[in-house]
Amino acid sequence: MNRQQQAEALELMADGIRHCGKCRLCESRTHAVPGEGAADAAILVVGEGPGAREDRTGRPFVGRSGRFLDSLLAEIGLDRGSLFITSAVKCRPPGNRTPRADELRICREAWLVPQMSCIDPELVILLGLTAIRSVLDEAPSLGRVHGDIVERDGRRFLLTYHPAAGLRADDVAERLRADLAVLARV
Ligand code: SF4
Repeated sequence: MNRQQQAEALELMADGIRHCGKCRLCESRTHAVPGEGAADAAILVVGEGPGAREDRTGRPFVGRSGRFLDSLLAEIGLDRGSLFITSAVKCRPPGNRTPRADELRICREAWLVPQMSCIDPELVILLGLTAIRSVLDEAPSLGRVHGDIVERDGRRFLLTYHPAAGLRADDVAERLRADLAVLARV
């Protein structure tokens, strides 16, 4: 697929996501949030799910966590336009609860895996345990594995914290910063 074909395929998926009713999260969302960025991005970023602001706007990582992520990326010379940013579930769970196992599974198979295949990034950054659980089907201790790059089925994944956790604790913010700094060398 060339870049134009990738962009068209992603836009078709985005349209499907905006109208998706495959799991119960469609009942409480305002807007589904398909994700955005470069169709042929070398780096795909996967978060947990939309928050209140994302739900209102239909855009990923536009709240405080997003601004923090942008600042960390800027420190290593990356801007979000050169990446593709999405999340494990595309619709906001009520009250910002953690997505349930069946919601993660359904959204992964319906949308996240096809997005990943279409973009075919060199590296996938998994932000937080929910993204790790969804994509790798594992729930490791983040304190132990953060900063690791693991390979599954020929694809590489960087495991790290969610920016929201970094906003809550300075030591986590420093670990997240150090983990992302690896990107400058990848
Ligand atoms: S979370 Fe995913 S699977 Fe569930 S309704 Fe939204 S887009 Fe569909």
